[in-house]
Amino acid sequence: MTKLEQMLNEAASVVILGHVNPDGDCMGSCLAMYRYAKKRKQGADIRVCLKNFPEKFSYLEGYDQIQEEAGEETFDLCICLDCSDRERLGEFSVYLDTARASICVDHHVTNTGYAGENVVEAGASSTAEVLYGQLSDDLIDKELAECLYTGIVHDTGVFRFSSTTAKTMEIAGKLMETGIDFTKIIDDSFYKKTYLQSQILGRALMECIRFMDGKCIFTVVKSQDMDFYGVTPKDLDGIVDHLRTIDGVECAIFLYEIDNHMYKVSMRSNYVVDVSRIAAYFGGGGHVRAAGCTMSGSIHDVVNNLSEHIEKQLLAVNDHD
Ligand code: AMP
Ligand code: MN
Ligand code: MN
Repeated sequence: MTKLEQMLNEAASVVILGHVNPDGDCMGSCLAMYRYAKKRKQGADIRVCLKNFPEKFSYLEGYDQIQEEAGEETFDLCICLDCSDRERLGEFSVYLDTARASICVDHHVTNTGYAGENVVEAGASSTAEVLYGQLSDDLIDKELAECLYTGIVHDTGVFRFSSTTAKTMEIAGKLMETGIDFTKIIDDSFYKKTYLQSQILGRALMECIRFMDGKCIFTVVKSQDMDFYGVTPKDLDGIVDHLRTIDGVECAIFLYEIDNHMYKVSMRSNYVVDVSRIAAYFGGGGHVRAAGCTMSGSIHDVVNNLSEHIEKQLLAVNDHD
């Protein structure tokens, strides 16, 4: 029996949490965990709490039962998924603080080990993949498989990113055997974009700027652009991944304005630059090839500060050649 199952057995009430602005891995992992706990502990008080989550994941079982506000109640067990530090639990961190026991299942290299028990596999493609290893196969039905498959698909960019391993594919294969409509999951939740999402993507790509001999590239979406197109940050998913695939690019930076002189930073790299180190330096976190943080200052300041670190890493690599 895994640590997670043991802790589940000992709890009469369970709360499941993810990170702020949940993505596909976070949504899929939390709803997989929710279904699993419900099946395993019939009659127990099981909750899943997330805020500001994308509607495109409404096909996932349990989506309409997500609790959006933190209350006064306390739980025997708090399960934190895909969340690298306590702060990223947002307002729900109160449930972690007051729970009798807690466990975090995650794959961020920057995970701070903030829960009572921490199952962190930094090399894993997704939290969904790590979570799969913690669950008993016999309780993984089609609905639960849809959740885990969604998590894996989103965090691997549909099995493209370097974090994808043979094990990832094996797990995806097992999940497919439950009869999930994988084509629909991939098309509808990953590739499908609204007209306005496509327009803002086009605009962001048109305005991207290369520097360091084309090894770095950045683009920015300002609040006024979001207002003009009538989009929100959730509509900007995937822009940074387009930048990363431009020929010659090692490191891609995407910024969007969250407040006056305050930017959400997304970074992606291809071979050399460890963007998790740079994001962690500026108070964020993530993975070696995909990371993020929040930074203040002008666009110029932000890009300058980031490029200093990127350049240092690139020079260090060249020194070894
Ligand atoms: P993003 O660029 O927002 O798609 O995030 C890339 C990766 O970095 C994801 O795994 C995020 O969980 C992580 N990440 C993004 N922003 C932050 C942050 N402010 N703090 C910690 N991790 C972050
Ligand atoms: Mn995530
Ligand atoms: Mn993840």
